[in-house]
Amino acid sequence: MSMIEKISQYMDAGYPILYMNTFEELKGVKSIISASGARQVLSWSYAEGLVLYKNGEVQDLYKNDLAKTPIAIVLEQLLADSLYELEGKVIVFKDIHHYLEEPEVISLLKQLVNKINLGADFSIIFLSPIVKIPKELEKFITIIEAEYMGYDAIRKEIVDFIEYQELPKVADKLLDELAMAFKGLTKFEINNLLALAYANDGELTRADLGLIFEQKKQMIMKSGILEMVNVKESVDDIGGLENLKEWFAKKAKVIKNIHEAEKFGVDMPKGVLIAGVPGCGKSLNAKVASTLFEVPLLRMDMGRLMGKYVGESEGNMRRAIALSEAISPCVLWIDELEKAFAGINGHGGSEVTVRLFGNFLTWMQDKESPVFVVATANNIMDLPPELMRKGRFDEIYFVGLPKADERKKILQIHIKKRRPRDLAGIDLDKLVGKTEGYSGADLEGVVKDAVEDAFANGKQAVTTDDILRMIENTHSLSEIMKEQLEKMNKEYKERKFKNASK
Ligand code: ATP
Repeated sequence: MSMIEKISQYMDAGYPILYMNTFEELKGVKSIISASGARQVLSWSYAEGLVLYKNGEVQDLYKNDLAKTPIAIVLEQLLADSLYELEGKVIVFKDIHHYLEEPEVISLLKQLVNKINLGADFSIIFLSPIVKIPKELEKFITIIEAEYMGYDAIRKEIVDFIEYQELPKVADKLLDELAMAFKGLTKFEINNLLALAYANDGELTRADLGLIFEQKKQMIMKSGILEMVNVKESVDDIGGLENLKEWFAKKAKVIKNIHEAEKFGVDMPKGVLIAGVPGCGKSLNAKVASTLFEVPLLRMDMGRLMGKYVGESEGNMRRAIALSEAISPCVLWIDELEKAFAGINGHGGSEVTVRLFGNFLTWMQDKESPVFVVATANNIMDLPPELMRKGRFDEIYFVGLPKADERKKILQIHIKKRRPRDLAGIDLDKLVGKTEGYSGADLEGVVKDAVEDAFANGKQAVTTDDILRMIENTHSLSEIMKEQLEKMNKEYKERKFKNASK
């Protein structure tokens, strides 16, 4: 159902307050006008006061004595109006979030809702980029999220722009790539970016894709709930974890050919939960998934998602999910999952966390969009068991401390990255023998320190002894976290999680 149809349906069904969460005020008003049909649309903002729309334009002041009137007075006036006067009207309050902490405004709105419930066809619409719901009004409000443009609509927008600006024609393949790059942006943002790209050199070229991605990254960042991560890592940067790598390679075949796969009867991949020891490549795997699948990587910050107003956290979660679906195909990386959902199941989880968790589970369960979730967690002991049931994630892997052959590969990767010339002269097996219980991050650390030390001491090359010295000076992860690691390993075995390593 389109957003316009949704609004119209809610109005017909007598929902008293709709909360339209959007930055695009103009588009929002247009959608409301279309959805309102024969109803009369009024709008209030601090600058304009109360105005009336006719044929999509601001026609006049609603009532002369209500010009530039503060919101409370407008609400009082509406309360004083008879039901007959309210009948068949829609009132839009722009940027109302500023006023939703004022007891006077809340109380008047409540009274107005009671009046509407007496049977008037009168709808209140909040139009604002920020969702703020006072507890007192919670049960009267229905949130409507802004709609993102689909691939075909974006493509058409670009074609229209090219025609309108009389630009040289763009090859079909580039047009497809541009449309993909714009996914997740609003119409307004897309047009701004097209104008910027065009202003550069007077046409749209492949070189503009970089500019679009950079700007898109910033726009997503500004939304405050997701971050688009630049990924340089490839599968060759992961030492070991062969089972997980093979699993990813299989999923990559599906995701890169999603239409054929679906036709064949393959289910849309949901995602993977990677749990385990810190510093052993969980984040690295989330990044490499996006490289393998050739799709963008979005990171969801659970800490930032939690807001202080009623419904704010759920609203943020909904927006994050809607944005990731708009950008899809993509990898959605949920880092430190246990931080968000720890304590649920009667162990101190707050009401909001429990609701958030419920929303997340439902989404994971029903998800049909090509958003591949990679959730990473250090400690699964605190995670609610529902999360680990079949049907949520396609698979759960645990990542343990690297075994001897894995340590060898990890050391090789990190030496090669910094000192490719020295690699042949280094006795890797000797290093492997001295690094039992070291994590991937520990191994990277000793190589990094040895390289820095050699440079500071004016040496021409890094040797086995240089690295051995650093190993002697380092406490491995298993020394530092002995007890926790043993507990974790026992837990993983009991729960029969798949081992990421062969
Ligand atoms: P945390 O739980 O602390 O976030 P993590 O498991 O996500 O840790 P990463 O951030 O992926 O760990 O790893 C830290 C660094 O250690 C990586 O940037 C990488 O350079 C190195 N590293 C870890 N594991 C491996 C590995 N298997 N192969 C190569 N490098 C690794």
